[in-house]
Amino acid sequence: MTIDIQALETALVSGDRRGLAKALTLIESRRADHRLLAGKLLSALYPRTGRATRIGITGSPGVGKSTFIEAMGRFFLDQGHKLAVLAIDPSSPRSHGSILGDKTRMEELSVDPRCFIRPSPSGLSLGGVARRTRECVLLCEAAGYDTIIIETVGVGQSETLVCSMVDAFLFLQLPNAGDQLQGIKKGILELADLVVVTKADGAFEQAARRALVDHEMALHYMQPDPDRMPVRVMLCSALEKKGLREVYDTLLGNLQTLQADGRLQKRRQAQREEWFESELQGQLMDLLWQDRSFKKDIQKLKGKVAQGIMSPTEAAQQVIAGVDLKRG
Ligand code: GDP
Repeated sequence: MTIDIQALETALVSGDRRGLAKALTLIESRRADHRLLAGKLLSALYPRTGRATRIGITGSPGVGKSTFIEAMGRFFLDQGHKLAVLAIDPSSPRSHGSILGDKTRMEELSVDPRCFIRPSPSGLSLGGVARRTRECVLLCEAAGYDTIIIETVGVGQSETLVCSMVDAFLFLQLPNAGDQLQGIKKGILELADLVVVTKADGAFEQAARRALVDHEMALHYMQPDPDRMPVRVMLCSALEKKGLREVYDTLLGNLQTLQADGRLQKRRQAQREEWFESELQGQLMDLLWQDRSFKKDIQKLKGKVAQGIMSPTEAAQQVIAGVDLKRG
């Protein structure tokens, strides 16, 4: 199949959803020729990117992410936004998707023409975040979506990654999670711009209020980050549609402040630099792996490292010693 980049660009920019879906598939492809085409497409679209609000949402399976994104997403649409959601694919075992993996996630949003939902591809994902997620964000922006939600699941590394590509990071917590605020959760808490205690309704309401206080206490003892707004903890019931406006107002209000004083631009600038560095690392690794003799060498060295015969440092040095950076 030949891919006409110009036609794809035109379709995507004109708001053709199939065009966007096709472009995303191209971006996610690992084939070398596809990567080249994807690079061309991205360059052509780059001037149209960067204008959306990028929001990361994380939380353990069952915390209510898909229910929250569905309710919050509808709220955004009702305010006149166009929304794209890069969602966890529940069918992927590695993504730790919803425990109710067989249900259709975000049922209402998925049929709304103002919303575009893309499950992250399985296999490539790190807790739901693929290496290409940043590029997917850019494509959605070029297609005219002004709000992009990136969903991920509480497995540590993926949070750091998502945090490095969004303007605001929302951490969803269960009403009874307050007393488990340790370890990895605390690490994630440090990344959060907003903590939302979910399911603050019915029998859970009391516990949710306690969780709110617990989180506020935990945050109180954390060093505030001068580059960000103070972290807020909020209650929400996605089922009863309570707390959605408060989350919306806080989120956008904070971003407005950060934009006005230049902190948002600074965050994005740092993110672009970081992206460049990690992209460079990734592409260098790809280059090595594409070279048959290197591949063999690396595998041999890997074996030695695994057996404890050679130190990882020495093995890496041996690989690098054989690289002629001016090749091809
Ligand atoms: P995810 O795995 O994080 O995407 O969680 P889900 O959105 O699938 O929700 C997990 C369970 O929590 C489901 O049974 C939901 O019905 C329930 N749930 C989600 N949001 C709420 C809420 O606001 N209130 C209550 N009571 N239950 C909720």
